[in-house]
Amino acid sequence: MEKKITKTENIKFKIPEIPLTRKELKNLLNYHIPCLCCGLEMLHPDIYAKLLDMQELSGSASQAIPILEPYEKIMHPVERQVFNMFKSMSAKYPDKNFKELLQMKKDIHELALVRIQSVIFNKISFYRRILPKKTARQLRKLMVKTNDIIFDPEPHKPFSRRIFIHKLKNIIKNLESRKLKEEILEIARRLPRSSDEVCAFVVKNARKRPSVIALNLIHPSVGTFEHLMPKCMKGMNNSLNFALECSYCNNSRHHYPISVQIEENPYMPHNAQIQADKLISLSKKGLCKKEYIKNLKKVLQNLSDEMICLDISKLDV
Ligand SMILES: [Zn+2]
Repeated sequence: MEKKITKTENIKFKIPEIPLTRKELKNLLNYHIPCLCCGLEMLHPDIYAKLLDMQELSGSASQAIPILEPYEKIMHPVERQVFNMFKSMSAKYPDKNFKELLQMKKDIHELALVRIQSVIFNKISFYRRILPKKTARQLRKLMVKTNDIIFDPEPHKPFSRRIFIHKLKNIIKNLESRKLKEEILEIARRLPRSSDEVCAFVVKNARKRPSVIALNLIHPSVGTFEHLMPKCMKGMNNSLNFALECSYCNNSRHHYPISVQIEENPYMPHNAQIQADKLISLSKKGLCKKEYIKNLKKVLQNLSDEMICLDISKLDV
């Protein structure tokens, strides 16, 4: 009698195979990977975690500065400028901590910030003259509220660039002219973020604890897993849906689609290619799986409406 042979090899699983474990993906951050969005080098999160326990960061600037010095090269440009400001101030005021030093600079930086913001708000208000009546009225209301916040030395709630742009988008969303809409938003995007202007960093951080200020110099550079398809849109929690992005870019994207992230960061497609090139070079050394890079290309292309088309032709050479 013949034995019945059961075939098990051809069973197909519906779940696609995960190209890389979380641990393997995190390990890539040991190799100076540039952020997918801004292109700046990222810091391994474990190194940042060690800094969280450093008591010296709460002390005087002269104690904290040597701890942060090794990371100066990976600081984002504004954070590096603030760090250099601390270095020169601490030579003059060796006993003061980061908070005390920022407090000394706050008033002058706040004025500088309001000056930059008010020029931009004036430019936006100008559009009341050419917008349809209802839209112009809504814009006026938003600008009055906004001026109340920025010209008040002790505002109830600090000005939020993100919320302002969100409200502005809502007001102009029904305008027929796409060009006009883009023009107004382009002006609003010039509003400084704490990542673009030292004055915005000083104002945002002057009330924080010295150790928090110290960590904020480094935190934007920490490498994170960005959900390409946001979690709230049912994006998966594995490497098929993860890209390596610095903490700053990850936090500033929120749950917006990649197309909006590219509007805010026009160099993102270029920077994504730089990251892909780095990953390809790591894959040649057996440090990154090819499947991860192929999947990243596919997902980015889909989610960005083909605005990010990675060239991975060197992967198989
Ligand atoms: Zn970034």
